[in-house]
Amino acid sequence: MKPLILIAEDEPAQMELLRYNMESADFRTILASDGASALALVDEEKPDLLVLDWMLPEMSGIEVCRRVRARPETRALPVIMLTARGEESDRVRGLETGADDYLVKPFSQAELVARIRALLRRSRPALTDEQLAYGGIVMDIASHRVSRDNVPVQLGPTEFRMLRFLLERPGRVYSREQLLDQVWGRDVYVESRTVDVHIRRLRMALDIEGAPDIIRTVRGAGYALDVSAN
Ligand code: CA
Repeated sequence: MKPLILIAEDEPAQMELLRYNMESADFRTILASDGASALALVDEEKPDLLVLDWMLPEMSGIEVCRRVRARPETRALPVIMLTARGEESDRVRGLETGADDYLVKPFSQAELVARIRALLRRSRPALTDEQLAYGGIVMDIASHRVSRDNVPVQLGPTEFRMLRFLLERPGRVYSREQLLDQVWGRDVYVESRTVDVHIRRLRMALDIEGAPDIIRTVRGAGYALDVSAN
Protein backbone atom coordinates (compact mmCIF):
# COMPACT_ATOMS: atom_id res chain seq x y z
CA MET A 1 0.00 0.00 0.00
CA LYS A 2 1.52 3.33 -1.04
CA PRO A 3 1.63 5.86 1.79
CA LEU A 4 -0.96 8.63 1.53
CA ILE A 5 0.46 12.15 1.97
CA LEU A 6 -1.77 15.14 2.64
CA ILE A 7 -0.27 18.35 1.26
CA ALA A 8 -1.63 21.58 2.77
CA GLU A 9 -0.32 24.51 0.75
CA ASP A 10 -2.10 27.60 -0.58
CA GLU A 11 0.24 28.57 -3.43
CA PRO A 12 -0.88 26.66 -6.54
CA ALA A 13 2.58 26.44 -8.15
CA GLN A 14 4.17 25.17 -4.94
CA MET A 15 1.30 22.74 -4.43
CA GLU A 16 1.71 21.33 -7.94
CA LEU A 17 5.46 20.94 -7.47
CA LEU A 18 4.94 19.09 -4.19
CA ARG A 19 2.23 16.88 -5.65
CA TYR A 20 4.38 16.01 -8.66
CA ASN A 21 7.41 15.15 -6.54
CA MET A 22 5.43 13.13 -3.98
CA GLU A 23 3.85 11.07 -6.73
CA SER A 24 7.19 10.58 -8.47
CA ALA A 25 8.46 9.24 -5.14
CA ASP A 26 5.63 6.69 -5.22
CA PHE A 27 3.40 8.30 -2.63
CA ARG A 28 -0.30 8.91 -3.10
CA THR A 29 -1.40 12.50 -2.46
CA ILE A 30 -4.42 14.49 -1.38
CA LEU A 31 -4.43 18.27 -1.44
CA ALA A 32 -5.78 21.08 0.73
CA SER A 33 -5.32 24.80 0.07
CA ASP A 34 -6.38 25.99 3.51
CA GLY A 35 -6.25 24.83 7.10
CA ALA A 36 -9.91 23.93 7.53
CA SER A 37 -9.89 21.66 4.46
CA ALA A 38 -6.67 20.08 5.68
CA LEU A 39 -8.29 19.19 9.01
CA ALA A 40 -11.37 17.81 7.24
CA LEU A 41 -9.16 15.63 5.01
CA VAL A 42 -7.20 14.37 8.00
CA ASP A 43 -10.51 13.00 9.33
CA GLU A 44 -11.98 11.76 6.08
CA GLU A 45 -8.94 10.25 4.38
CA LYS A 46 -6.72 9.33 7.33
CA PRO A 47 -3.44 10.21 5.58
CA ASP A 48 -0.16 8.64 6.73
CA LEU A 49 1.63 11.99 6.88
CA LEU A 50 0.87 15.70 6.63
CA VAL A 51 3.08 18.18 4.76
CA LEU A 52 1.90 21.48 6.18
CA ASP A 53 2.69 24.99 4.97
CA TRP A 54 3.21 27.40 7.86
CA MET A 55 1.48 30.35 6.17
CA LEU A 56 -2.02 29.32 5.21
CA PRO A 57 -4.99 31.68 4.83
CA GLU A 58 -7.32 32.06 7.84
CA MET A 59 -6.10 29.11 9.90
CA SER A 60 -2.30 28.96 10.07
CA GLY A 61 -0.27 25.78 9.77
CA ILE A 62 0.57 26.13 13.46
CA GLU A 63 -3.10 26.09 14.40
CA VAL A 64 -3.76 23.10 12.14
CA CYS A 65 -0.90 21.24 13.79
CA ARG A 66 -2.11 22.17 17.26
CA ARG A 67 -5.58 20.81 16.50
CA VAL A 68 -4.20 17.60 14.97
CA ARG A 69 -2.18 17.03 18.15
CA ALA A 70 -5.06 17.88 20.44
CA ARG A 71 -7.16 14.94 19.28
CA PRO A 72 -6.40 11.35 20.27
CA GLU A 73 -7.33 9.92 16.84
CA THR A 74 -4.81 12.12 15.02
CA ARG A 75 -2.21 12.76 17.73
CA ALA A 76 0.31 10.39 16.19
CA LEU A 77 0.01 11.71 12.64
CA PRO A 78 3.51 12.69 11.43
CA VAL A 79 3.67 16.37 10.42
CA ILE A 80 6.36 18.13 8.41
CA MET A 81 6.07 21.92 8.54
CA LEU A 82 7.20 24.09 5.62
CA THR A 83 8.32 27.57 6.59
CA ALA A 84 9.60 30.58 4.64
CA ARG A 85 12.81 32.43 5.45
CA GLY A 86 12.15 35.18 7.94
CA GLU A 87 9.86 32.92 9.93
CA GLU A 88 12.89 31.18 11.35
CA SER A 89 12.54 32.73 14.79
CA ASP A 90 9.22 30.96 14.91
CA ARG A 91 10.66 27.60 13.97
CA VAL A 92 11.14 26.39 17.48
CA ARG A 93 7.58 27.32 18.21
CA GLY A 94 6.65 25.13 15.25
CA LEU A 95 8.27 22.14 16.84
CA GLU A 96 6.79 22.99 20.21
CA THR A 97 3.40 22.99 18.55
CA GLY A 98 4.04 19.42 17.62
CA ALA A 99 5.49 19.26 14.12
CA ASP A 100 7.86 16.30 13.82
CA ASP A 101 10.14 18.05 11.38
CA TYR A 102 10.39 21.25 9.33
CA LEU A 103 12.00 22.54 6.16
CA VAL A 104 12.78 26.14 5.26
CA LYS A 105 11.76 27.29 1.76
CA PRO A 106 13.32 27.00 -0.72
CA PHE A 107 14.24 23.40 0.04
CA SER A 108 15.20 20.55 -2.24
CA GLN A 109 12.39 18.17 -3.10
CA ALA A 110 14.78 15.25 -2.62
CA GLU A 111 15.38 16.43 0.94
CA LEU A 112 11.65 16.58 1.61
CA VAL A 113 11.15 13.07 0.25
CA ALA A 114 14.02 11.80 2.43
CA ARG A 115 12.48 13.42 5.54
CA ILE A 116 9.08 11.95 4.71
CA ARG A 117 10.54 8.47 4.32
CA ALA A 118 12.39 8.80 7.63
CA LEU A 119 9.20 9.81 9.46
CA LEU A 120 7.15 7.05 7.84
CA ARG A 121 9.74 4.47 8.85
CA ARG A 122 9.24 5.56 12.43
CA SER A 123 5.45 5.86 12.37
CA ARG A 124 4.58 2.99 10.08
CA PRO A 125 7.33 0.37 10.18
CA ALA A 126 4.81 -1.86 8.42
CA LEU A 127 5.72 -0.04 5.23
CA THR A 128 9.24 -1.36 5.32
CA ASP A 129 8.93 -4.54 7.39
CA GLU A 130 8.38 -7.93 5.88
CA GLN A 131 6.12 -9.04 8.69
CA LEU A 132 3.04 -7.58 10.32
CA ALA A 133 1.83 -8.81 13.66
CA TYR A 134 -1.01 -7.96 15.98
CA GLY A 135 -3.09 -9.84 18.53
CA GLY A 136 -1.56 -13.23 17.75
CA ILE A 137 -1.93 -12.73 14.01
CA VAL A 138 1.28 -12.82 12.00
CA MET A 139 1.39 -11.92 8.31
CA ASP A 140 4.46 -12.58 6.22
CA ILE A 141 4.13 -10.17 3.32
CA ALA A 142 6.64 -11.74 0.96
CA SER A 143 5.42 -15.33 1.26
CA HIS A 144 1.73 -14.33 1.68
CA ARG A 145 1.50 -16.55 4.77
CA VAL A 146 -0.82 -15.73 7.64
CA SER A 147 -1.17 -17.45 10.98
CA ARG A 148 -3.06 -16.87 14.18
CA ASP A 149 -1.72 -18.28 17.44
CA ASN A 150 0.65 -20.30 15.21
CA VAL A 151 -2.27 -21.92 13.34
CA PRO A 152 -2.05 -21.29 9.56
CA VAL A 153 -4.91 -19.17 8.21
CA GLN A 154 -6.08 -19.49 4.58
CA LEU A 155 -7.19 -16.22 3.00
CA GLY A 156 -8.42 -15.23 -0.44
CA PRO A 157 -6.59 -12.33 -2.14
CA THR A 158 -9.18 -9.73 -1.12
CA GLU A 159 -9.21 -10.86 2.51
CA PHE A 160 -5.41 -10.84 2.47
CA ARG A 161 -5.30 -7.22 1.26
CA MET A 162 -7.98 -6.22 3.75
CA LEU A 163 -6.19 -7.85 6.66
CA ARG A 164 -2.89 -6.34 5.57
CA PHE A 165 -4.43 -2.88 5.53
CA LEU A 166 -6.03 -3.37 8.95
CA LEU A 167 -2.81 -4.83 10.40
CA GLU A 168 -0.90 -1.76 9.31
CA ARG A 169 -3.05 0.38 11.59
CA PRO A 170 -4.58 -1.72 14.33
CA GLY A 171 -7.23 -0.02 16.43
CA ARG A 172 -8.19 2.51 13.81
CA VAL A 173 -11.78 2.44 12.59
CA TYR A 174 -12.38 2.44 8.83
CA SER A 175 -15.67 3.05 7.07
CA ARG A 176 -16.83 0.76 4.27
CA GLU A 177 -15.98 3.50 1.78
CA GLN A 178 -12.44 3.84 3.11
CA LEU A 179 -11.93 0.08 2.97
CA LEU A 180 -13.27 0.05 -0.59
CA ASP A 181 -10.77 2.73 -1.62
CA GLN A 182 -7.88 1.00 0.11
CA VAL A 183 -8.56 -2.62 -0.75
CA TRP A 184 -10.25 -2.41 -4.15
CA GLY A 185 -8.95 0.98 -5.32
CA ARG A 186 -10.74 4.20 -6.04
CA ASP A 187 -11.49 3.49 -9.68
CA VAL A 188 -13.25 0.21 -9.11
CA TYR A 189 -16.99 0.23 -8.57
CA VAL A 190 -17.94 -2.13 -5.78
CA GLU A 191 -21.04 -1.92 -3.64
CA SER A 192 -20.31 -1.11 -0.04
CA ARG A 193 -22.06 -4.24 1.22
CA THR A 194 -19.36 -6.23 -0.60
CA VAL A 195 -17.07 -5.02 2.17
CA ASP A 196 -19.34 -6.72 4.72
CA VAL A 197 -19.15 -9.97 2.76
CA HIS A 198 -15.35 -9.95 2.80
CA ILE A 199 -15.20 -8.89 6.43
CA ARG A 200 -17.40 -11.88 7.25
CA ARG A 201 -15.07 -14.20 5.31
CA LEU A 202 -12.05 -12.69 7.05
CA ARG A 203 -13.72 -13.17 10.44
CA MET A 204 -14.45 -16.82 9.66
CA ALA A 205 -10.90 -17.43 8.45
CA LEU A 206 -9.48 -15.89 11.63
CA ASP A 207 -11.86 -17.84 13.86
CA ILE A 208 -9.31 -20.10 15.53
CA GLU A 209 -10.36 -22.32 18.43
CA GLY A 210 -10.13 -20.37 21.67
CA ALA A 211 -9.23 -17.03 20.05
CA PRO A 212 -11.62 -14.09 20.39
CA ASP A 213 -13.14 -12.21 17.46
CA ILE A 214 -10.54 -9.56 16.64
CA ILE A 215 -12.59 -7.54 14.14
CA ARG A 216 -14.61 -4.88 15.84
CA THR A 217 -17.80 -3.69 14.14
CA VAL A 218 -18.51 -0.08 14.97
CA ARG A 219 -22.17 0.53 14.32
CA GLY A 220 -22.67 3.22 11.70
CA ALA A 221 -18.92 3.79 11.39
CA GLY A 222 -17.17 0.69 10.06
CA TYR A 223 -14.57 -1.84 11.15
CA ALA A 224 -11.34 -2.02 13.10
CA LEU A 225 -8.85 -4.64 14.14
CA ASP A 226 -8.94 -4.58 17.90
CA VAL A 227 -7.82 -7.13 20.49
CA SER A 228 -10.24 -5.62 22.98
CA ALA A 229 -13.09 -6.14 20.51
CA ASN A 230 -14.90 -8.67 22.68
CA1 CA B 1 1.65 29.69 2.04
